[in-house]
Amino acid sequence: MTEKLLTDRFDKNFAEIKGKIAAAAEKSGRRAEDIIILAATKTVDADFINYAIQNGIDYIGENRVQEFLSKENDVTKNVHKHFIGHLQTNKVRDIVGKVELIQSVHSLKLAREIGKVSVKKGIVTDVLVEVNIGNEESKSGFSADEVMSAIEQMTEIEGICVKGLMTIPPICDQSDQVRKYFDKMYKLFIEIRDKKLYNNIEILSMGMSDDYDVAVECGANMVRIGTALFGARNYNL
Ligand SMILES: *Cc1c(COP(=O)(O)O)cnc(C)c1O
Repeated sequence: MTEKLLTDRFDKNFAEIKGKIAAAAEKSGRRAEDIIILAATKTVDADFINYAIQNGIDYIGENRVQEFLSKENDVTKNVHKHFIGHLQTNKVRDIVGKVELIQSVHSLKLAREIGKVSVKKGIVTDVLVEVNIGNEESKSGFSADEVMSAIEQMTEIEGICVKGLMTIPPICDQSDQVRKYFDKMYKLFIEIRDKKLYNNIEILSMGMSDDYDVAVECGANMVRIGTALFGARNYNL
């Protein structure tokens, strides 16, 4: 597709997503402005990402360290950058200090490494704790049963600050199936927030291209959207 067709399609997609999110937010007693749309930018080239930023995207997330680093210098600076993918301990030093928040803290070992590197760099890194809400063999993250105790242990780690929870639920054919997982996540989020282990537990990151509206209805305040915004992967300007 030509550049113009791609950007036109982005504009149309973004408008549609904002409309659906506004409706879902209203259903759950919130305002559209309360929901952050994070653009998942894997495989999208820097020019297209910059177009998205110029046209209203404030948050972007990459999920591979290598890809993040390769685009870093070409992507517009004044945007909130998150890391959303599986992070290996040996890559932590490459990413800490370069993103505002790491969404995918799936183990205490990883949390300790992020803390250690952050302290060395004289910063505190904001993180979300990843929950494997469907207890899937193939996914990383803490089970719902483990997550409270994990966050209690994280309070002892210098250099990190827990801001909330993120999840990728099991693939579901029907929206009432995925809703069960999102409801469970919301309950967990409220429980953890009210325990006040950290001052500002405020982000519940869940919902992707196929289910972001359901996620918002269930209480998500951050959705991570790739395909529904940019098109099937590998379209570049
Ligand atoms: C790619 C990705 C998304 C977005 O997925 P889409 O289905 O393309 O919207 C969200 N979260 C994570 C962690 C991802 O890697």
